[in-house]
Amino acid sequence: MASCVLKELGTDFEFTHKFQQKLGNQWNTAKTLSTPRALSVFALSQVIEEYNGIGMTALSCVEAVPGLGIAGKLWKQEFQDKISVVVNTIEETPENDVGRNGDAKSCSDIKYACEEPNALLHSGKIFNFIYLEAYGNCVRYLESACHVISHRGVLCIVSTDLSTLYNKSPDRVPRIYHGHTMKNEYMKETAVRLILANLARAASRWDRGFHVILCRADENCVVIVARILKGATHANRSLDFVKKVAHCRQCHFRSVLDETWHFVPSADKIVCFCEDLDPASSGYILSPIVCLGPMYTGPIFDPGFIFDMRERAIKTSPRHKTVSILQSMLMECCCCESDADEVTLTKLLTGNLENAADTGKDSDEPAAKKSKTDQSFKEFAVKYSNLDFPVLFLLAQTHTKRGSNVPKITNVIGRLRECGFRASRTTFDPRGIRTAASVREFRRIIDEILKATPKSG
Ligand SMILES: [Zn+2]
Repeated sequence: MASCVLKELGTDFEFTHKFQQKLGNQWNTAKTLSTPRALSVFALSQVIEEYNGIGMTALSCVEAVPGLGIAGKLWKQEFQDKISVVVNTIEETPENDVGRNGDAKSCSDIKYACEEPNALLHSGKIFNFIYLEAYGNCVRYLESACHVISHRGVLCIVSTDLSTLYNKSPDRVPRIYHGHTMKNEYMKETAVRLILANLARAASRWDRGFHVILCRADENCVVIVARILKGATHANRSLDFVKKVAHCRQCHFRSVLDETWHFVPSADKIVCFCEDLDPASSGYILSPIVCLGPMYTGPIFDPGFIFDMRERAIKTSPRHKTVSILQSMLMECCCCESDADEVTLTKLLTGNLENAADTGKDSDEPAAKKSKTDQSFKEFAVKYSNLDFPVLFLLAQTHTKRGSNVPKITNVIGRLRECGFRASRTTFDPRGIRTAASVREFRRIIDEILKATPKSG
């Protein structure tokens, strides 16, 4: 059978049929992961810039889980001698497909290893950037990755274990991820936050904490980029965000639970609104409220970092899909409180994209303009980063009364903002809404919209 060519960020990578067979099922999954690999390139470019700023050169980067080895090659081609790269492979001979692919000149000094990922990470070298493209479970590598990463080093986690994370086999989630999850409207976000809770525990064992840069869940994988920070204070702060979430299976009410060290006989009264619904419709003998998690409930986007990543992505290839992904993340992490703010933000973001697209005349003039955009965005981000980031998004259809038409997302977002709540779309689900409003308020607003619009059909 013929070999297969994957084109990523303008480079062709060829893999023989023999290699594909060796990878087995992993091949089919790995070849779809071009977005996380592109995100890793743009994240690394930011890390390099930061480290160079403090006089550090020659960063060490590792693609720790054996796979296609494309990420390591992309970094080396892009950043040449600014970084040293180690790529873990499935076979020892350097003449394998992983070794042969890519631009021969720039990729000649990539080091190859053929080891179990934890053994490779524990080999004594300190890394500044660790990329874990795990086929399936990623949490078993987190502890060693947190141990060998430098202070302020960046860890990029890709997990394809979606069937477990989305609770297809309920016994696997507590066993592997030490938490509970269920199939509900925000399960994609739960998956990300469940892995982050595992990261918080793994890092804290080495007295480390983290700061999340970005998260994403798409049809093939979950991606998390986080900066690891040394020190007990950071470790405690990350652990403090790990909490359980009470979820009502009937009315979809959710609430982040504050657990204390002291035993409280009557736990915080959870007021879900099942009493508003018809009690006879409930098929539950026990309380329909369950405890999900523990999951990480802190902020999951860093607007400044994502903005800079997006700038880099525009420079590299303005039409690449990561540009729009990063843009939606920026819209989401600001989660604007008014339509006017959203218009301003969109103008800021699309403005510099158009500049980059007009290739040829962009070398001198936009420098001043660009720094102005940077400045205005940073001011914007500061305004919103002082506010709490709303945890767990909502779906309009879950909260629409049965038999009614689901209102348009834009209408719901507009109405939420009119009522004084922050609201935006979310990258986790095209139909999702992230808002500071509570579930009860969200329902009330949807009911209002439904009452105002005459029934069609
Ligand atoms: Zn309820």
